[in-house]
Amino acid sequence: MFPATRAAALARLEAFLPRAGRAYAERRNLDEGPGRRTDVSGLSPAIRRRLVTEEEVAKAAVAAHGLAAAEKFVAEVCWRSYWRGHLETRPALWQRYRDDLARLDSALGRDASLAARFAEAVSGRTGIDCFDAWAHELVETGYLHNHARMNFASIWIFTLRLPWQLGAAHFFRHLLDACPASNTLSWRWVAGLQTAGKTYLARPEIIRKTSLGRFRVDAPLATAAPPPPPEPPAPLVPLAPLPAADPEARTGVFLHTEDLSPETLPLPAHPVALAAVDAIGGDPAELKRAHANAALEDGVARAAAHFGLEPERLPEAALEEAMRGFAARHRLAQILTPFAPVDPVASRLARLAATLAGDGVRLVPLRRAWDARAFPHAGRGFFAFRQVIPELVG
Ligand SMILES: Cc1cc2nc3c(=O)[nH]c(=O)nc-3n(C[C@H](O)[C@H](O)[C@H](O)COP(=O)(O)OP(=O)(O)OC[C@H]3O[C@@H](n4cnc5c(N)ncnc54)[C@H](O)[C@@H]3O)c2cc1C
Repeated sequence: MFPATRAAALARLEAFLPRAGRAYAERRNLDEGPGRRTDVSGLSPAIRRRLVTEEEVAKAAVAAHGLAAAEKFVAEVCWRSYWRGHLETRPALWQRYRDDLARLDSALGRDASLAARFAEAVSGRTGIDCFDAWAHELVETGYLHNHARMNFASIWIFTLRLPWQLGAAHFFRHLLDACPASNTLSWRWVAGLQTAGKTYLARPEIIRKTSLGRFRVDAPLATAAPPPPPEPPAPLVPLAPLPAADPEARTGVFLHTEDLSPETLPLPAHPVALAAVDAIGGDPAELKRAHANAALEDGVARAAAHFGLEPERLPEAALEEAMRGFAARHRLAQILTPFAPVDPVASRLARLAATLAGDGVRLVPLRRAWDARAFPHAGRGFFAFRQVIPELVG
């Protein structure tokens, strides 16, 4: 159901464009159900892997409708850039989430009641019809409509009284579009942590309406969503400048699953060698793994054709050593790689950079102009960020 190649993603974009204008503004909150959705694009797994970029999608919508009519669609695409920039400039939010998760994972092992409620929720056995259907849909398709995500998260937190971090981790394992920034910060937003004191309450009548009557929502839902105690603000960390690539140096390219449009990367030097990780890392659910790996294969094939180079596949499980070998075999002075935002690929690249530096090889991340323009405006609220959208798509 979700494009895993650039060609399929561009075809999906093309087919969706007629509905990306005023129709999107009017109908994007309606969820016709799996396999029947026509009011949203279903492009998020492809955008997540950058088979198509936010820039391409937003600009195509503006070209088709003009900015005024495409404003809502473009704003939604820009939410992704905003969340990514926000986490990039407030990295403590990610670390806090990871620390909480480690604590909660061990609580799940000790607290039988928490473990039982968690198991009921993730396997769709709560007796709340919409929630149970979404729990199954998430695991069976790797996707949920935005309204389903908001209501699932709200019911998880305020009706089932489960910690938001466990819900975010469950989404992250299953969503084909799982993005550390969009996912974690959206869960924080529903929980009332992202916009301090503002929570999102799931309401039965809204769920009935936006699901076009697919759900009755007879089971009682929480009628209040009290905000959590305020947490200390995460410090704003200005974007660190990236090391500059040397246009004269002997250059290799390394591809990973964070950005798979090598043909539109801002490459300052022509590469003599091409490598790519052989698979997505971490512990994703099977569908997510399959989608990410298919996207990776497509990206590598296009990179090979674009650069005219035979790709080498480096094992994810032993990347450091394999990368050193790749650099040595081709006598590389630098390896260019798409910039990876927070996290876990970014940490991996930082470790790789340190290992390669010991061999006198530079690992140089390439940040797209879109990210470089968007991220510095994302440290505060979306309202301020919104002001730069015309400049971004201009
Ligand atoms: C709790 C929760 C968790 C979420 N987790 C993720 C996630 O891990 N990855 C992810 O990409 N989105 C996430 N979202 C945002 C949103 O739900 C999905 O991007 C959207 O449902 C994808 O469907 P679509 O491609 O049909 O969207 P469309 O409506 O067609 O929108 C076009 C594109 O804009 C972007 N977009 C749209 N809405 C949002 C939004 N609210 N926030 C950020 N980007 C948006 C996506 O890239 C999407 O493909 C989450 C939302 C919530 C409430």
